[in-house]
Amino acid sequence: MDERSAVVVGAGVGGLAAAVALVNAGWRVQILERHDRLRADGAALLLWANGVRALRALGMGAALDAIAVRQDRTGGLRTPEGRWLIRMTEAGDRGEGLSGTVVVHRQDLHEALVAALGDNASIRTGATVTGLRLGDSPAVKLGGETLTADLVVGADGISSLARSTLDNRARLVGAGRVAWRAVVPRFRAPDVVDGGETQGSGRRFIYADLGRHGVYWAAEARGSVRPESSVGQLDLLKRWFAGWHEPIGELIAATRPEELLQHPVEFVDPLPRSFVHAGATSGVALLGDAAHAMTPDLGQGACLALEDAVTLGVCLGGKSVPDGLRRYEELRRPRIARMSRMSRGVGGVFAAQGKFVVPLRTALLRGIPDKTFAKGASALTDWDVPTA
Ligand SMILES: Cc1cc2nc3c(=O)[nH]c(=O)nc-3n(C[C@H](O)[C@H](O)[C@H](O)COP(=O)(O)OP(=O)(O)OC[C@H]3O[C@@H](n4cnc5c(N)ncnc54)[C@H](O)[C@@H]3O)c2cc1C
Repeated sequence: MDERSAVVVGAGVGGLAAAVALVNAGWRVQILERHDRLRADGAALLLWANGVRALRALGMGAALDAIAVRQDRTGGLRTPEGRWLIRMTEAGDRGEGLSGTVVVHRQDLHEALVAALGDNASIRTGATVTGLRLGDSPAVKLGGETLTADLVVGADGISSLARSTLDNRARLVGAGRVAWRAVVPRFRAPDVVDGGETQGSGRRFIYADLGRHGVYWAAEARGSVRPESSVGQLDLLKRWFAGWHEPIGELIAATRPEELLQHPVEFVDPLPRSFVHAGATSGVALLGDAAHAMTPDLGQGACLALEDAVTLGVCLGGKSVPDGLRRYEELRRPRIARMSRMSRGVGGVFAAQGKFVVPLRTALLRGIPDKTFAKGASALTDWDVPTA
């Protein structure tokens, strides 16, 4: 088969991973990124066993080992007073449910993905895609310029132009919550001996050791994006999480305003009718947040984007583009639909607030044996590299 060409819109985790997968499958790839520099935000990602497996399938096992900090057996779920409800001590069905989790700095992952691209991929930065033409021969528009390819991959994130072109009913919906994230550099961070998640009334806090980078933390609260400056937001977080077990207060206090990132929690609803558009010989695929942005409750968004990328590479390795895209849709749809439902369900439980509901949630969670919890987590990570 002649060398086939793809245009990937967006150089986030999903777009870069898709480019690696397609190059590995023999494609020539051009990546278009609207920002002037290739960069990830200054936070971290938890990669569950499925995300780790996907990166290994891309041939990035050694690169991952060099940047990943293992999280097994250090975390779990706690109350604000610090009482453990669930410990991450069980391995689950595949021996890896919770214990295969790692944390990486997003920038390290970005750089590792770029390094894995090889010569058959090129990246254009400062290239904002302004339109996508569907039909038999898909094309992307960059201002006055039009680029055609055998395949266009829409990996343009949560506010995806590609998604709205394929199905404008698939919209972004606010979850009524806000998330904050930061990495506190090692020299300023308190020592942490564990990690995991702490749940209070309508608020939660997560932290993880990020090795040489320091400590990563994320917090969530009900409400809308705060208009205050970062200094004001840190003050609010200090008040909201006052009295929670350490090192939560210490981590917030050690965070500099310029290190704080704030986001509304949003998700795509309904999912696009299809993640693909197949023409006669070419087509378009959606991937990552562009296809299925979810609330971060399962911590699986980037892991699913990596799964998408590997699956796309497998499906388009040998088959014609339309057949490969149909197979991609068939393989991804059931898992994505299930994960999207679960993430919303879990989000509802985590965001619970009130004098009666929260103690009830605590009692229920305390009643779940660690082994059962690990089994549930194994269901989330239960993904293998598919066959075409
Ligand atoms: C608070 C929070 C915590 C999270 N924690 C985790 C976690 O621990 N583990 C996990 O697996 N997931 C996590 N996620 C989810 C994860 O961040 C996303 O699912 C993942 O980053 C999606 O990657 P992506 O490549 O699809 O999109 P993005 O990373 O958003 O990349 C999209 C890229 O496309 C570019 N772009 C957009 N429009 C255009 C255009 N028109 N032209 C050219 N370029 C364009 C953007 O500049 C960007 O570079 C979290 C999310 C949040 C909000």
